[in-house]
Amino acid sequence: MCGLVTKSLQSNVKIDLVAAMEKEELFLCYQPIINTMTKRIAGVEALIRWKHPNQGIISPLQFIPVAEETRLIIPIGLWVLRTASSKLKEWHENGFADISLSVNVSAIQLQQPDFGEAVIKILYETGMFPEYLELEITESLLLESSLIAANNLSYLNKQGVRITIDDFGTGYNSLKYIQELDVSSFKIDRTFIYNIGDKVNKAIIDAIIKLGHDINIEIIGEGVETKEQYDYLKKKRCHKVQGYYFSKPLLPEEMGEFLKEYIKRKGY
Ligand code: C2E
Ligand code: MG
Ligand code: MG
Ligand code: MG
Repeated sequence: MCGLVTKSLQSNVKIDLVAAMEKEELFLCYQPIINTMTKRIAGVEALIRWKHPNQGIISPLQFIPVAEETRLIIPIGLWVLRTASSKLKEWHENGFADISLSVNVSAIQLQQPDFGEAVIKILYETGMFPEYLELEITESLLLESSLIAANNLSYLNKQGVRITIDDFGTGYNSLKYIQELDVSSFKIDRTFIYNIGDKVNKAIIDAIIKLGHDINIEIIGEGVETKEQYDYLKKKRCHKVQGYYFSKPLLPEEMGEFLKEYIKRKGY
């Protein structure tokens, strides 16, 4: 499993991050996403980690901002996509043919005029169909005003790539995206799921799911840790769920085992 330490980063981290890619210190974990209707694994989300030589395993929450600031997120993001898409290809060939791959992308990546083409090129080179890729974007001010980002997303969408709004409900302008982008799914932010016992949070979750049903957008519940949370989302017909209740993010080998075990168990 991919344990994470959260502590303050030392200042040499920026320099270290440059070398981290070359030294192969970055690695990916994968967390399963479950379809609540079929109870099958619908896909996996790739989540990056950094095995720092003397600071242990560093969380993306800590180094992604550094990578964005230094623009290293551009090569790192392409590395994530290439690595995850090769892995998905392998799983597809091992009999898990219908699972999709979710990859987080930062607004900085979307600002690159050639981002869309670079993504398609990687998919082509790794032999993965665009229909299996879901790009997770988090709403941000940066994204809102960018024509380049919008062009990239509409190009990718035309190629068959799906767009997910991550952490839905917490951002600055969630609802505006529905009209402006061809969004396939929303991921309900896990803070809402965590506080599902609270009346207001429950109402927000209900409203997001209803919106999804009304306008034909898939809803994914993130951070599902308990049976109660899962049962509630299932009852409300939330399409997919993801969280520690099913599995923590796993190393690729562990994810491979999880897929096999899960086939034996025939779902949840
Ligand atoms: P995210 O995309 O919203 O990913 C979900 C986060 O919630 C992950 O944290 C995951 O490990 C965690 N999580 C999943 N299920 C549960 C649960 O049941 N309970 C709790 N408490 N947490 C759960 P992680 O791996 O630390 O990633 C944090 C954020 O870093 C991600 O949030 C994403 O925004 C960013 N990130 C991760 N990998 C990448 C990447 O390759 N590129 C970019 N640009 N950002 C990434
Ligand atoms: Mg995500
Ligand atoms: Mg995210
Ligand atoms: Mg999220």
